[in-house]
Amino acid sequence: MIRFRNYIGGKFVDAAEGRTLEVVEPAAGSAYATAADSGPADVEAAVKAASLAFPAWAATHVQERSRLIERLANLIEDRLEDLARAESIDTGKPISLARRVDIPRAAANFRYFAGAVLHTRSDLHEGQAGFNWTLRRPRGVAGLISPWNLPLYLLTWKIAPALATGNTVVAKPSEVTPATAALLCELAAEAGLPPGVLNIVHGLGDRAGAALVNHPDVPTISFTGSTGVGRWIAEHAGTRLKRVSLELGGKNPFVVFADSDVDAAIATACRAAFTNQGQICLCGSRMIVERSVYDRFVEGLIDGAKALKIGDPLDDATDFGSLVSRPHHAKVAQAVEQAKALGGEVLVGGGPPADLPERCREGWFYAPTVIAGLAPDCAVEQEEIFGPVVSVRAFDGEEEALRLANATPYGLASVLFTGDLNRARRVSEQIRAGIVWVNCWMLRDLRTPFGGAGQSGVGREGGEEALKFFTEPKNVCIGP
Ligand code: NAD
Repeated sequence: MIRFRNYIGGKFVDAAEGRTLEVVEPAAGSAYATAADSGPADVEAAVKAASLAFPAWAATHVQERSRLIERLANLIEDRLEDLARAESIDTGKPISLARRVDIPRAAANFRYFAGAVLHTRSDLHEGQAGFNWTLRRPRGVAGLISPWNLPLYLLTWKIAPALATGNTVVAKPSEVTPATAALLCELAAEAGLPPGVLNIVHGLGDRAGAALVNHPDVPTISFTGSTGVGRWIAEHAGTRLKRVSLELGGKNPFVVFADSDVDAAIATACRAAFTNQGQICLCGSRMIVERSVYDRFVEGLIDGAKALKIGDPLDDATDFGSLVSRPHHAKVAQAVEQAKALGGEVLVGGGPPADLPERCREGWFYAPTVIAGLAPDCAVEQEEIFGPVVSVRAFDGEEEALRLANATPYGLASVLFTGDLNRARRVSEQIRAGIVWVNCWMLRDLRTPFGGAGQSGVGREGGEEALKFFTEPKNVCIGP
């Protein structure tokens, strides 16, 4: 069986206590590997290695850091097929999606920050009180914690800016999906990253993750995951006065006005609802549609859900794979049962798909599901499901659309389909969300600020926001 070991100080090592966790291929429903089940001693060793490596890495010329990181981007591209296969096996996502999105984006994260860090500049303030400039220095060891839905994509979104700005890293990927993080360590060594600059510790959130959050020598914590865990991290990191970035859950509205290109809205809604089996924090989960085009839209969405080719994630032709795990499958199924109990009508899906290939009969598949008739304030409409389950409802007028869009405590992403530029501007100003996509979904320019409002998070990643997050500003003032 494959073993995913920790990577500490440039060496692959087992957890100090020798404990391991089973790693399951969700599409087959069976274990295929083990991962280190790390505890405080492993985190201690990783933080020590990262602390030792920090002074030299921080002092390395930025062009050299950039060169090594760029090399890592190239190596990820060279190994695209291996990484995509590993990601597909680990998560149940279609391999075509991993090839097209997850792995190229991981390379792009490194390439972008390798370039961005070469183009930073210092602020200069003169004329009012002395002559001031701002130095920005790396903060030390960064603790990075990521979820299972886009494993390499989200882990590298944190690792790249942390390393580019001269921090060293201890990262804890999700225990559900350790494979590509393990492969990344091999590539980091091949790229020539000095030992201790990047350390990966596998294991459970409440052991390895909590030890990292609480470690006194890790002043920076960047977390992507659920709102509940984010709250726990905020509390514990807060009392230790750490700098924290929290990218959390969402319950994203997808608003369609009758003046839009409704066919384009339907095609985009199918992607926004069901890509990666709906397990993307940016997925649209509440379809809010102007009444005059509601029936047409819902019919199109149902047809789109039925047209998806559900099957073995390793088959090139598959559009829609399995959910990530048995507990997550149970959570999604339970949410749909709850929706029915609350008066929701399942228009399509609502259970396991038929006709799965032999290899996938024990896998954790759940069909694309559309539900109508839920009250906007019911529990199912207020809580994130994070699966291929969306609700549909009609609205009359812009005011009601906005009220419904903003009717949850979350505020991550939103989508707006309209042909009216003034309306796009008006509504996007009033939607509570970190991102408003107008007539599109999931278009990402890595220079833009990324993050959520309300219960969807604290802080922003991406572009300059990330470069600032991972550095400490220092004002130097020269007197007259
Ligand atoms: P999760 O919160 O259960 O786990 C995320 C990570 O945190 C894992 O590595 C886990 O081991 C770790 N963890 C758990 N408890 C911890 C603790 N006490 N201390 C430190 N680390 C701990 O989330 P998940 O189920 O892996 O991922 C799904 C969630 O992630 C969804 O809510 C989704 O919306 C969210 N998400 C958000 C974004 C975003 O950018 N806002 C992106 C992707 C996923």
